[in-house]
Amino acid sequence: MTFESLGLAPALLRALAENNYTTPTPIQAEAIPLALAGHDVLGGAQTGTGKTAAFGLPLLNRLAKQTPPSGPRKPRALILTPTRELALQVSESLRAYAKHLRLNITAIYGGAGMQPQIDNFRRGVDVLVACPGRLIDHLERGTARLDNIEVLVLDEADRMLDMGFLPAIKRVLGKLPAQRQTLLFSATFEAQIKALALEFMRNPRQVQIAAQNTIADTIAHRAHPVDASRKRDLLTQILTTRYTEQVLVFGKTKHGCNRLAEQLEASGLKAVAIHGNKSQAQRTKALIQFKTGKARVLVATDVAARGLDIPNLPLVINYDLPMVAEDYIHRIGRTGRNGASGEALSLVAPEEGGLLRQVQNMLKTSVELVVVEGFAPSRPIQLNAPLPKPGGSGQRPSRGHRPHGKPAPRHAHAGPKQHRGNGRAAPAGARRDGRTERSPG
Ligand code: AMP
Repeated sequence: MTFESLGLAPALLRALAENNYTTPTPIQAEAIPLALAGHDVLGGAQTGTGKTAAFGLPLLNRLAKQTPPSGPRKPRALILTPTRELALQVSESLRAYAKHLRLNITAIYGGAGMQPQIDNFRRGVDVLVACPGRLIDHLERGTARLDNIEVLVLDEADRMLDMGFLPAIKRVLGKLPAQRQTLLFSATFEAQIKALALEFMRNPRQVQIAAQNTIADTIAHRAHPVDASRKRDLLTQILTTRYTEQVLVFGKTKHGCNRLAEQLEASGLKAVAIHGNKSQAQRTKALIQFKTGKARVLVATDVAARGLDIPNLPLVINYDLPMVAEDYIHRIGRTGRNGASGEALSLVAPEEGGLLRQVQNMLKTSVELVVVEGFAPSRPIQLNAPLPKPGGSGQRPSRGHRPHGKPAPRHAHAGPKQHRGNGRAAPAGARRDGRTERSPG
């Protein structure tokens, strides 16, 4: 299949060719024809699958065919995204696709000044990419008008609901014309998403790419048992003696990520941190520094890293194990792409045994435990240790979290052999809650 055969406007085809997009990805091949035909679409796909073009191309194609109304233009397409980073990324991608079209594409999000956004609305906007919180601010002030919206996209809908944006989304939906096309993309389809779709979509066609949440079998999963107090020294040793490539390091809390980046800097390693407490300008700067190679280490929280277009990396380090096993998949999705080999290395303190068990259960394999000389922990990793209480370190309470202290499943084990991911999907029950931070829209 080619983009030409999908029947997209020549201006879009030209931009795609210039961006070296030759073949549609599976989600694009499935979703684009349905959206072009005017159907509402429920798309099961996460970042990295090409979902932005899957909703962006049909939407731009629709606007390209119209003669824009004279005078300042009110948005005709609205894309809601959970985070500022994703809003920026989506708007940048859409601008690239719309390079040969005369459309104004604007992103609005919290943490940035209102006035430039208001000025943008005055000048006229065709495609609006927005985080729900900031959009509500504009609606309340009367600076944004949504009565011309023809296409609504909910991008990473599950993530928006996790972040508590459901009331904001419903308020926005109330301001939109009933006669419109709705495209909803989500990595998971839990009950709440289905309910949202049933309520606000018209006979949606569902497209799902099979490889949802799969774990590349080219990724080696390893863990170093180490006392929490010695993790930083071990990380510094790994980064100075064992690896020279760029590394993405995941931490649990905003504060912890900040401190770690500062401490790595002090040890002579160029490191930047990205998390929800950083201003938009700081987050963008950190990401650019990492992408351009000026920073070797990017220390990130799960929420801040979600949805970011970070290139394939040989190594992802879990400085802290994720509270929710599914986040492990998102984290390691940054390595081992397209058949390249990758390594997911976790630093596991004895008290994190329960979290390691969770990851192993999800991987359906054990993770090789390798003690590093000089860093042996003071006590063994307790795989049957209870999971840490959500909220203990800044997490909000989770839906459906396993009750504290419930006995561990017996099949958890940490074997001596090196195992690889098996490419199997995460269990349907894998939750994405119990997160450590919220990134306000
Ligand atoms: P997304 O899942 O939309 O964030 O896209 C992931 C990455 O794949 C981005 O860097 C896109 O530019 C790229 N991409 C999306 N679709 C295609 C395609 N058909 N051909 C080549 N690259 C693509």
